[in-house]
Amino acid sequence: MSNYQINIIHLYPDLLNLYGDKGNISAMKKRLEWRGIDVTVTECNDIETLNLSDADIVFLGGGSDKEMETVCTELCKKQTELKDYAENNGVLIALCGGFPMLGNYYENSENKVDGLGILDISTELVQTRMIDNVVLESPLVSQPIIGFVNHSGKTVIGEHTPLGKVICGFGNAGKGGDEGVIYKNVFASYLHGPLFPKNPQLCDYILTVALKKKYSDFGELSKIDDGVEELANEYMIKRIKGM
Ligand code: GLN
Repeated sequence: MSNYQINIIHLYPDLLNLYGDKGNISAMKKRLEWRGIDVTVTECNDIETLNLSDADIVFLGGGSDKEMETVCTELCKKQTELKDYAENNGVLIALCGGFPMLGNYYENSENKVDGLGILDISTELVQTRMIDNVVLESPLVSQPIIGFVNHSGKTVIGEHTPLGKVICGFGNAGKGGDEGVIYKNVFASYLHGPLFPKNPQLCDYILTVALKKKYSDFGELSKIDDGVEELANEYMIKRIKGM
């Protein structure tokens, strides 16, 4: 065991659990443990119990419209704490439905829902759902990021830096263009389900950010055998590109 330890808070896993989102928590946990780094995962299903004081990574996943609205309304009760956490460089990962919740507002088929205002983005409802496999190129990693999207939000990210450029599939606002947002240590993307098992480089990049923030002496994660993950990633890129 090393002297390093990471605390992950998983926000509302009982309501936001679409497409195997939990795989992202398992991937982060295993990839840290394989390097001898101790991990604690705390599931927060009640906003009153949210304590960000020793959080190293906060994870927000995706859900159906109804569950998203319930969670977003609850999270807004601790908007100041969550905003301060992000502004102070806390690592926050928001995938699929979690992404628009970080913005100023998003729309579903019934309501315009106030978001957390952590990102200066807004999301309008579109009539045709965006459903597709996606390949991105991101400045964060050399391996293309692969994933899948299924949502009905068109997100305008304004001045924010995107997570990546779309090579195939949908971005924030339709076919092609930019996808996701990187802001300080906030990583947001519509790519959902088990994003980290499919993209080990991205997972390690974010884990390293969290470790360096907590431990000034932290260097880099040791190499592990990602042969199978790399083959799966390469296979999917070929399949999505139709090669
Ligand atoms: N419920 C949202 C939508 O349908 C987000 C779904 C998701 O998390 N991918 O647009």
